[in-house]
Amino acid sequence: MNRIRVLPSDLIDQIAAGEVVERPASVVKELVENSLDAGARRIDVLVERGGVVSIRVVDDGCGMSADEARLALVRHATSKIASVDDLGRIRTLGFRGEALPSIAAVSRLTLTTRLPEADAATRIRTEGSEIVEVGPAGAAPGTQIEIRELFFNTPARRKFLKSEAAEAAAIGETMLRLALANPGVHFRLVQGERVALDLPPHATALERARAALPRTSLFVAEGAEAGIFVQALLTPPEESGATSRGLYVLVNGRGVRDRALSHAVTMGFGELIPRGRYPQGVLRVEVPLGDVDVNVHPQKSEVRFARPADVQSAVRHVLLHRVANAPWVPSRSPVEARQAPAAAVVPSSPGCYDRLPASARPAPAADAPGAGPPPEGVRGYFAQLEVIGQLHGTYVVCQAPDELVLIDQHAAHERIAFERLRGAFAASRSQSQGLLPPLVLELVPEEVDIAREHGELLLRFGFDLAPFGERSLALRGAPRLLGGADPEPLLRDVLAELSATGQSRAVEERDEHVLATMACHSVVRAGDALSLEEMRALLRELDGTDRRANCPHGRPVLLRMPLSELERRFGRA
Ligand code: ADP
Ligand code: MG
Repeated sequence: MNRIRVLPSDLIDQIAAGEVVERPASVVKELVENSLDAGARRIDVLVERGGVVSIRVVDDGCGMSADEARLALVRHATSKIASVDDLGRIRTLGFRGEALPSIAAVSRLTLTTRLPEADAATRIRTEGSEIVEVGPAGAAPGTQIEIRELFFNTPARRKFLKSEAAEAAAIGETMLRLALANPGVHFRLVQGERVALDLPPHATALERARAALPRTSLFVAEGAEAGIFVQALLTPPEESGATSRGLYVLVNGRGVRDRALSHAVTMGFGELIPRGRYPQGVLRVEVPLGDVDVNVHPQKSEVRFARPADVQSAVRHVLLHRVANAPWVPSRSPVEARQAPAAAVVPSSPGCYDRLPASARPAPAADAPGAGPPPEGVRGYFAQLEVIGQLHGTYVVCQAPDELVLIDQHAAHERIAFERLRGAFAASRSQSQGLLPPLVLELVPEEVDIAREHGELLLRFGFDLAPFGERSLALRGAPRLLGGADPEPLLRDVLAELSATGQSRAVEERDEHVLATMACHSVVRAGDALSLEEMRALLRELDGTDRRANCPHGRPVLLRMPLSELERRFGRA
């Protein structure tokens, strides 16, 4: 058996690096955080080949003296905390003195730094923790750090890197998050030849969010509760996304992942956001320094609250209050909304959002009497129903000899469209309808990358896309079966669907989800008046569809009430 021993320091450095430096985006995060802690007003990040070849971060911050620069590369050397008490009141993004030595341990690093009052800069070069060169150099005040050949000495880690495009996208996300949290700082990200981000200083978080997020119809909800300040800059519910990745959560200026807080945002929208859709935008939460522990995660991407329930309810309440007064809830006065908080808190309607005010939309009736598929084996079940009329512009009311049948027109149309799309997709028929002139779409770099990566698949869905500048694409054709619907929001949802599920879902499942999203966009909205003839046509078409009779998002299409049930309720039987 081996004897116990203390590990050599270069090995300790590599082990520590394993926790902090997971991928190129982690390097960018740590270096940019250092620049922000150094008071930089402008931060330039230059990346080659997804950061695997090189990453350079240039700032105009406070810089370091030659002695400080040497110390900065030593493990546990930091200028940001000095005592145990300081750990409870951290204002800076860094505090462990681990990032620079960790990054140095797994790369070739060049640090060039100059105090504003100094005549010259200091340059230090290291290779896997070893200092190979120190000396004066010419450079502007501030700090530049260049990382080359990340993981050159840790092949195991290198192997786990994703494609260059995926690493570049992760860097873009990291920069976006940092930029949203620091609106006053000029951020610039250049990936290879491409300027992926260029955000001049903004006066407010809202201006920054509008410039940084291409979906710019953000509304603001702001308030404080129990000493917790909440500011949410969010898209209205109809622009909600297929994943929660487009919701950036910032706690005391630090980008974090916090499912409970993301969930609180969704709850704050009440019924306006259906299950499976997520609000997009920025959530900023400020809590007293003593009420949050930032020292719980190696990459500092999670925090722990002393009073998590208070923080969640603050978020929920600020949003509920704002949402109740939102312009897109026309028929619901603020008074009603306040009187019925319980109804607004419980999101009860899965499926896609159909632009109806929450109060007009009932909960799904999966377990109500008679809800369920039409009887097995009855051919032409829907066609034999007699249409009586339309209820609330939403439900088709029908009678059969022994039952009352209500059909959710939106869910029904969605199912029909879904089956058509699925059939056409399976048959690989070209489904693209040319757009003249093409529609030019402004996208974020990640969306451009995803569109590029999945170009062929998107064409099979009917999206004919061509490159058009660095942050945009030209849509030359849209899915034919989309009807008159706007292809742009659909494409955004489909791209989100593809990026969220790229790795994790089976191909068929992914395709079904995309088709369901397309179906949802293509069909009659609840609230559209239908003529009797249109309703009958809808019923005939329903006969051609799958007997599971749920819309592809899982909402029931019909509700059946046997006459015997009516008789029982009216005391006739
Ligand atoms: P931490 O940020 O946790 O203190 P780091 O290893 O990231 O640890 O950095 C170590 C120290 O190096 C910092 O505390 C800071 O004093 C100095 N430093 C790092 N980057 C910069 C920079 N861009 N400008 C000025 N000082 C820096
Ligand atoms: Mg740091």
